[in-house]
Amino acid sequence: MINMILLAMAAFVIWAVSVYTYPFRPCRRCGGTGRKPGSTRRRFGPCNRCGGTGRTQRLGSRTAHRTVLSVRSEMAKERQRKRDRKAADNATDPRRLEDR
Ligand SMILES: [Zn+2]
Repeated sequence: MINMILLAMAAFVIWAVSVYTYPFRPCRRCGGTGRKPGSTRRRFGPCNRCGGTGRTQRLGSRTAHRTVLSVRSEMAKERQRKRDRKAADNATDPRRLEDR
């Protein structure tokens, strides 16, 4: 039973990394060409589903990128807070600079 849970978690991690690394996949309707099937330069035109890019966003890639971004910005904020505290300490008590 525990093995199953571990396996599911490992599969989820692999899927999350793959979705983060490859957020796009070829459009299913046009097969990655970006044009409607059977269209020429005169007729039809770009695929409606992907808008002519030939790529569609994979399910979950938006969530994965948002999560990573929020975690990274939270870490950056923490780092900035620490830097500010150190600068304030040095400004209020400059003698500590001479100890180094
Ligand atoms: Zn398409």
